[in-house]
Amino acid sequence: MNLILLGAPGSGKGTQAKALSQRLKTTHLSTGDVFREEIAKKTALGAKVQGYVTSGKLVPDAVVTEVVTAKLAALPGSFLLDGFPRTVEQAISLDAYLKKSGKKLDRVVYLALSEDEVVKRLTARRNCASCGELYNVVSKPPKHAQFCDKCGGKLVQRQDDTEETVKKRLMVFRDLTEPLIAFYKANENVFEADASGVAQDITELIANELGVPAR
Ligand code: ADP
Ligand code: ZN
Repeated sequence: MNLILLGAPGSGKGTQAKALSQRLKTTHLSTGDVFREEIAKKTALGAKVQGYVTSGKLVPDAVVTEVVTAKLAALPGSFLLDGFPRTVEQAISLDAYLKKSGKKLDRVVYLALSEDEVVKRLTARRNCASCGELYNVVSKPPKHAQFCDKCGGKLVQRQDDTEETVKKRLMVFRDLTEPLIAFYKANENVFEADASGVAQDITELIANELGVPAR
């Protein structure tokens, strides 16, 4: 099953994408994760995208689309896209790529969350610098402040999770990604999930809708 997961920053896309891709045995492709890795490894692509990512702006459509289509082309099985597409332009490019390569999109899942909740969640978000595990100082606190429950690694805040950059990312979402949701609602079978509850419950809700067997 080929899926796209849409939602505002902080709506839980990353968390749900990880859980769902395991359940569906599909490849999770997060453009944000790809860019953060490239930045950390100081590659040419990393240098190209760093300014955009740290300031909360979108990386140019052509750059993102090239990265994603190259990854998809190298993929034998199905995919779950997290963070792409983010603009109508990107969706149109993805559509053209899928048509050309004989693949199809099965479902679009939209994680719906209010802006107030988004700001609260993002500024409380932390992740493990070693293993990537996600925490939230309000809703999913680590047992020991600043350290990962799983591996003991140091917990860090994403550079773009400061209040000012969060506001910027929300503006970008409103301007560019909301029209994308309207685009998909007009063209695809979109499942809108209330993203305000507990992560595991939301995973179950989506899995159930997609017809994935319960655990
Ligand atoms: P979030 O959804 O929480 O904002 P992501 O990890 O998906 O975070 O993205 C982080 C940043 O990476 C974005 O703010 C943007 O700079 C860049 N980025 C990720 N995906 C895209 C995309 N599809 N198009 C343009 N920029 C992107
Ligand atoms: Zn860890």
